[in-house]
Order: sequence, then C-alpha cells, then structure tokens
Amino acid sequence: MQIARVALDVPLHRFFDYLVPVGEALSTTDIGRRVRVPFGRRSKIGVIVDLPSSSDHPLAQLKVLEEILRDLPALPDDWFRLTEFCAAYYQAPLGEVMLSTLPAGLRRIDPPKARTSQRAVKSPPVQEAPELTDEQRVALAAITGAAPGFNAYLLHGVTGSGKTEVYLRLIARALAAGQQALLLVPEINLTPQLEKRVAARFPDAGLVSLHSELTEAARSRNWRAALEGRARIILGTRLAVFTPLPELGLIVVDEEHDPSFKQQDGMRYSARDVAVFRARERGIQIVLGSATPSLESWANATDSRTRGRYTLLTLYQRAVENARLPTVQRIDTRLEKLQDGLSGALLMAIEKRLARGEQSLVFLNRRGYAPVLACAACGWISRCTRCAANLVLHLADGRLRCHHCGFESRVPKNCPTCGNQDIHPFGRGTQRLEEVLAARFPQARILRVDRDSAKSRKQWEAMVEKIHAGEADILVGTQMLAKGHDFPKLTLVGAIGPDAALFAADWRAAERLFAQLMQVAGRAGRADLAGEVLIQTQFPEHPLYAALVRHDYPAFAAAQLKEREQAGFPPYAYQAMLRAEAPKMAEALAFLAAARAWPQAETHQDVMLYDPVPMRLARRANFERGQLLVESPSRRALQSFLTEWLRFVDAIKAPSRLRWHLEVDPLEF
Ligand code: ADP
Ligand code: ZN
Ligand code: ZN
Repeated sequence: MQIARVALDVPLHRFFDYLVPVGEALSTTDIGRRVRVPFGRRSKIGVIVDLPSSSDHPLAQLKVLEEILRDLPALPDDWFRLTEFCAAYYQAPLGEVMLSTLPAGLRRIDPPKARTSQRAVKSPPVQEAPELTDEQRVALAAITGAAPGFNAYLLHGVTGSGKTEVYLRLIARALAAGQQALLLVPEINLTPQLEKRVAARFPDAGLVSLHSELTEAARSRNWRAALEGRARIILGTRLAVFTPLPELGLIVVDEEHDPSFKQQDGMRYSARDVAVFRARERGIQIVLGSATPSLESWANATDSRTRGRYTLLTLYQRAVENARLPTVQRIDTRLEKLQDGLSGALLMAIEKRLARGEQSLVFLNRRGYAPVLACAACGWISRCTRCAANLVLHLADGRLRCHHCGFESRVPKNCPTCGNQDIHPFGRGTQRLEEVLAARFPQARILRVDRDSAKSRKQWEAMVEKIHAGEADILVGTQMLAKGHDFPKLTLVGAIGPDAALFAADWRAAERLFAQLMQVAGRAGRADLAGEVLIQTQFPEHPLYAALVRHDYPAFAAAQLKEREQAGFPPYAYQAMLRAEAPKMAEALAFLAAARAWPQAETHQDVMLYDPVPMRLARRANFERGQLLVESPSRRALQSFLTEWLRFVDAIKAPSRLRWHLEVDPLEF
C-alpha cells in the first residue's frame, strides 16, 4: 500500500502518515496537493509533503486518507522551501506554518459556496507612463543592468520622488519577460490609489489583490489565480508574501520600514524579511522602497561591514516639476504657555489656512508609550544602570523597571540629579484635541481621522473623498493619515507632542517618530501650494528634529545607528522574546524563570538570557504578562540556541491556563 505523509495544522513538530486509498496511485507530482484526512474524530485538510516508502508506524495503525483534492495545481517546490525556512527561523511547527499560509477557504472541510457573480472589474482608463527623470533612469538602470540572479535594492526617496514609477517600470519588465510580480504594501486599506494606478498601467495583467479584508471566497479565488499563473501581478499585504507564484520574477516591498509588515500573533513573521529570503531562494531581484528605511535595511545598505548586502539607490528630488519639499520648523514650547496643548504659532498658522481656504492637519502621535520618568528642570530621565534602555514606571507597585534587561528599582521621590521634587511621567497625551480645536475655530469643519473613525475600507475611502472634495478644514489624525495619499489643499501639518517618543522606553520609538514625521510632512503641499510643517517640542535642539528640518534621513540614520551600536541593540544584536501570560503574574514569571534556568544555556556563550520582566498592562483582561529577552551578536548562534532551548521550554510543566509564545526579531517591548 502507498503511504502519503501529510502536513496538518496542529502545534506539533511532526507530520502524519496515511494510507492512500485503493485505486489511487500518487506520483511525486502530487506532492503539494491538498488532502482531506481523518484526524481524531473529525476530518482535516492537509498538504502532502512526501510519499515515503515506509512509515515509522506499523501500517496496520495508519488510517486511510479520505480524499485527494485535485481542484488546484500542487503547491510548487519553492513554496515548500519558503515555509520550511519560516518554520525554522520563527521556531514554529512546520505543519502549522504551511497550512496557515493557505487562504481559510482552502483549508476548510466545507468551504462556503463561492458566489458565482464575480465583481465586475471596472477597467480604468489606461495610463501612459511618464518620461523618467534622470534620477529615476539611473536607479532603474542600476537594477535592470545587473546580472540576473538574487539582488536586493534599497530604493530611498522622499514621498513623491517617483519610487512607485520605478516599481511600475520594473513590473513592466518582469511582465514582458513572462514573469509574475509581487508587490507588497503595508496596509491595503490605505492604498486603493496604488491599486488603481497599477491597474491603469497594466490593464491586461490580471492584477489581483490579497489582503485580510477580502471575503474568504475572493481571497481563495485570487490566490488560485496566482497559483495557476493567470494573475501576473499580485498586490497584497504581509500575508501575500506566501502566495505560491510559479513564475515569480520580481518582488517589491513598498514602505519597507512599516511595522505593519510584522505579524503580531500566530507565527510572528516579518513579511519584509520573508520576502528577502524568498527572493534569494528564487534567485530574483527584490526592491525595498522607503523615504525612511528601517535601520536594519539602512545598515544592510550602508554599513561598511555589511556593504554589498543591499544596493542603495537614491531619488533626491520630487518627480513632479515645481513640487518642493515643505519647510519644517520647530516651535519651542518652553518659551510659551500652550493653550490646551496648542502653541500660538500653530493656532495662527491654522487660522491663516482657514482664511485661504486651505487644509491643516493636526498630527498627534497617540501611541501609548510606556511612561518614563523625567525631570523637566534638568532633563534627567530614568535610565537603566545595566543597559542603555530607559526605565518604565510601574505605578501599581511603585517600581521602575527595565523592559529590556529586567533591572528594577524604587521610584525616586525627587530628581536624583538636581533634587527637583516635581518629577513625572513624560509626555502625557492630548486627548481632547478635537474639542479644543472646535471651541477655538467654531467656523471650521473638523474631521477626525484615526482607526476608530475609519474602521473599514469604505469609511476610509469616504473620508479620503471628503478631504479631496475640500469638505474639511482641519484634520485631526494619527499616522494613518500619513500614508499613501495626496491631498492637494493640505498645506499645513502641526505635530503635537512628538517628544514623548524621544525618551520612550521603547528604543525604536525615535526611528518610528522620524518615519512618521517625514511621512506626514510628505503630505503637506504637493503640486503648486507650498507646505509648512510645525513641530511643537521642548527639545528643539534634538538631532532628530535638526535632521528633520533638513529632510536628512541619512544623517538621522547614521546617528541612530551609532547609538544602537554603542548600546548593543539591533541591528547590531539579534533578539528573541519569550512571553508568558497567566491569570497571576507570579505564574507567568515562574514559567519564565524556569525557562531561564535551562542548564545547557552555559554552553551557548554567544547568547545572553536577561531577567524576566513583568509587563505593565496585561494585553487581555484577566491575564498578566511577563517577558524574557534573549540576545546574541550572531544570528546563527541565536537560532541554534532557540531550537535547542525551545525543546526544553516545551517540556516545562506550566499551569493549564498559562500561555506562552516566542517571537524572533521582536519589534515591541
Ligand atoms: P513615490 O512613490 O516616491 O511617492 P510616485 O512614483 O508616486 O512617488 O510619484 C509622485 C508623483 O509624481 C506621482 O503623481 C507620479 O505620477 C509623478 N511622477 C512620478 N514619476 C514621474 C516622472 N518621471 N515624470 C512626471 N511625473 C512623475
Ligand atoms: Zn532634575
Ligand atoms: Zn536595562
């Protein structure tokens, strides 16, 4: 009897053997097909990974598989290598990884019937390609002139510098060569414009999109079009990085720095990193584009030790003639009393826009940073004495804790440097901004744009329309507004309270702040109206703002990388985070302590295990969370440590309600 080895969506590091029903003969071309198999008392969908000649289990114990699903081509070879890489790198069970990359509709026993009526695709007017600027031509030539094979490019250019046009040219070239192109974007909600633009340029390429807002049926349909090669361009969010593409010839990752490329539950992968692996594995070109690249990518393109890993290409100018970069100015908020968080200069600037019928954006960095203690008198901040991170204030038990290394101390009564008794958490938010603006400018139409007011893509599009139509005067928003849209009447951006990110315990906060401010500045004044950006800050001399005023990302990145290197933070170290949550913090911490007490840890000299840290806020109600950081200067050393260590951690007897997971390359602390 023939044996089929099947990957199933179960949290075990193994496959399952089944007998092939009599009358069926499978060949190696069936490896990669979906099957329905009995599992426990139910049936499950799995993927054939092998046709072994023998099993470790007695044949008499093997069950017979129920059905071989031949509705789709078998998954291609490189999809196997991709999922194998992810399982190994992110320390996740391979079967779970494999099945999780399939659209839900294709891994269900009883998929809902697809509606027969396909959405009629309105074909947009075909758009002619513009003449390239000199800079675009140089960048493009560097890519098209390279020898075939794997090459990674970092395309750096401010918003409007014409990066997308370069992507479109590369896509055109891939299509002409009979290849498929994969274009990844951080959030499809925010980029319907891009979808239109690609469709207008390539009306016959069977463009499909893949993202989580599609119905199950639509996602299956698009995924299938990709696998069958009918779709030549695939535009998608992070999950699209796993789409099987038999003729893949080009990958583009737009806004490559965006944290949305990181999956935050299940297998916590970085779609950008997976994309780079995929390109290398297939021997094709990948372009990472951004106005503010991640420091990881920037180091890969510029650090002398890694130089050559990525090729840096720069677009310095805006592509459209006469489009100037906005002027950025700092407003020193130490010099005047703010009116409900707003400076006189900003209020005046808004008033001017109202008088001229232009739009203003009041940009609020509303991210809830863990509070760090600061002294306004002398500038002292609560730093960790053991590492370069800032200490986080835990009000509940009056402690300061390092979320990096686990160090903790009592909250001081007064400033350790100058004795000032009035020390408090840095950067309290301005929640009432909308009301304050309404009271101040009763005649203005104010529109709040954030995740709550633009939950669905429809709501978002309606808002964008409203802004375009000039039906709003003052926009109040978070970084959501910063992405992917041109608002021709928007000429003023005021950034409120950005300082909190400068001294956050999360040492990536400055990188994110710079990216957001650059991006939001890119919104102001395109085409013929000059834009102005006003930054309200208590630290106008801070190098981050100084670089921002000059639109000088390279200077900012160089300074940040130097700090990171001195502190031993990524990209100069590789990290993984073990997190545990349980009804009682003590249980979570006990589990982490048990994990930390792995006797073999000593044999991994390149790997550092820090102390477990209780987190301030439990993520879910009734659960308290702790975490434990693992760090190494060598990626390989970290990987081999994790593989062995997790076998030990898996075997720890934990309370039944305790949950834990490991995240490789964590972005948040
Ligand atoms: P980015 O992706 O860097 O933000 P885009 O490619 O979207 O930049 O270009 C910004 C604007 O400039 C768009 O309106 C685009 O149509 C236009 N554009 C891009 N390249 C050219 C060009 N070579 N000539 C004229 N306009 C261009
Ligand atoms: Zn002080
Ligand atoms: Zn520390």
